[in-house]
Amino acid sequence: MANYTMLTELLDLPNVRVTHYQLVGKDRLNLFVESTLEAGVCPNCQRVSLAAHDVSEPQRLHDLPIWNRRCWLRYAPRRFKCATCENTFVERVLWREPGVDYTTRYEQFIYERARREPLAQIAQTEGLIEDQVQGIFERGAKKHSPSAVTPA
Ligand SMILES: [Zn+2]
Repeated sequence: MANYTMLTELLDLPNVRVTHYQLVGKDRLNLFVESTLEAGVCPNCQRVSLAAHDVSEPQRLHDLPIWNRRCWLRYAPRRFKCATCENTFVERVLWREPGVDYTTRYEQFIYERARREPLAQIAQTEGLIEDQVQGIFERGAKKHSPSAVTPA
């Protein structure tokens, strides 16, 4: 079995292991990753569940570019079945909010750029569509704005 310890260290996401990688052309890197946590916490009863019983469809997530390559993570969240209440649930990870196509640090990176660069330019260099950049910027602005706490 190939050992991707070094890539795992460079990727530096909590409780994540790189299992495979793929160079695509001259400007893209795909990293296949999985969670190393052995348990999930049931959102229904808060008990720890050890039995991962299935894997969801692999998802493609944008992560920070590295060595001038766009970096994409291929990640298949595991499904757990709670032994206590029999609820099934998908694992949650610290480095990505559910339902978005980006890691949290990538969103932060795009948000910082969007504060000082035209959105169209970011979209072009990152291979995103402008609506995605706009969406990330708006999500970030909500998180960072004090008016998120006290609406105007
Ligand atoms: Zn449960």
